Amino acid sequence: MEKLFITQENLKIFVKNLKNDCDEFIAPRKENVDDIIFGDTKDNGRELSTYDGNSVTSPRSFLLPQTEPLFEIKSAKDCVLLPVEDRKKRIFYGVRPCDIKALTLMRKFFVDELADLPYKEKFENSTFIALSCDKRCSKECFCYEMDSGPYAKEGFDLQLTKIQQGYYVNIGSKKGSQIIRRQKKLFANAAPEFAKEIKNILKDFTKGIEKIDYKKLAGIIKQEKVKESVWDDIGVRCVVCSGCITLCPTCSCFSIADRLNGDKGMRMRYCDGCPYAGFTRMAGGSTPFPRHRDHIRRFFEHKLSVDVERYGTPSCVGCGRCIQTCPGNINIRKFINSVLEAQVL
Ligand code: SF4
Ligand code: SF4
Repeated sequence: MEKLFITQENLKIFVKNLKNDCDEFIAPRKENVDDIIFGDTKDNGRELSTYDGNSVTSPRSFLLPQTEPLFEIKSAKDCVLLPVEDRKKRIFYGVRPCDIKALTLMRKFFVDELADLPYKEKFENSTFIALSCDKRCSKECFCYEMDSGPYAKEGFDLQLTKIQQGYYVNIGSKKGSQIIRRQKKLFANAAPEFAKEIKNILKDFTKGIEKIDYKKLAGIIKQEKVKESVWDDIGVRCVVCSGCITLCPTCSCFSIADRLNGDKGMRMRYCDGCPYAGFTRMAGGSTPFPRHRDHIRRFFEHKLSVDVERYGTPSCVGCGRCIQTCPGNINIRKFINSVLEAQVL
């Protein structure tokens, strides 16, 4: 595959040109309280070409927002519904590799398996420009261990890697090639020494750490070998704040509700998930998971075991967001290590 290079100055021109070719340019920017968040910078130039750490939220908050109108209900009585369409052309810039891997998993669920039209429409109209990591984004991050960083292997259109002289550029898709072709004069062929520089970054990043044996982990969880008391402890600490499922880039669960005013209204989708007692409650009131401790157990099992069986890879990408946000100090990484070291079996 062609390896390219772009200078910092040309990257600015590249971004400016990209902005003319989209409806929203979703990029990392400093929020007023100093955190990094993704936002539309098409008209304000607040995007950061590179940044330390990761954003508080992931691209999921644009593709699967917390609440989203699906249909306008013209008449509930006569069942007349008008789909809400979102055909905006979005360019996501500066997405970290862990979030790119999360997008590939979300694509499997929302696009490849059974097409969810509102998600599919937004996803297919989007372009993803990854920005690889040269250091861990936080002390909680464990992307390399989960095989989702510091470089994205797939799922991006273009990937930028910061090197001393500028940015090394990987093309990951046809869409990516077309973008480059339109602005070819901004790019040069990458010199061989740039690849060496990247190898050294990777060496430093991965020094002393090993990939998690996620197949072994999935097997242990599936065989229900984890001590019951571990789930009891986790249940006591979870206060159902929903921080984990709100920030996790791979949480895909949702519910549907109609907001009616007389005969008219909106059908809304809203993010739902494991910690809530009502999430699995069925008509009639019964639930397969009546105990609170089993709600976060389900979160862990889904990400670390069920999805390994389903997709061949865990759906925890090691971003560390759930660890950073949990008021009960529930730590999925510690859990993984304890299981693999057989301390909780
Ligand atoms: S962040 Fe922690 S306390 Fe909040 S719902 Fe998730 S596990 Fe429970
Ligand atoms: S489970 Fe936690 S660490 Fe894993 S991807 Fe979700 S938020 Fe990130």
